[in-house]
Amino acid sequence: MPMGRGHNMGSGGSCICPKCGAKAPHQSGTPCQKMACPKCGAKMLREDSEHHELLKRKRKK
Ligand SMILES: [Zn+2]
Repeated sequence: MPMGRGHNMGSGGSCICPKCGAKAPHQSGTPCQKMACPKCGAKMLREDSEHHELLKRKRKK
């Protein structure tokens, strides 16, 4: 599958912890979900991924 406009994926960006909100730079080649939060050890999410959007929506309520 082609990357399209490369809006979401690609280099750069951050991973964010859904538990404590810590951010870490995304490492290319390693999905955020395979990274553990440096603070609490939870699985991280790619910032602005659809999972992160869901989380933000939940938080707003
Ligand atoms: Zn955390």
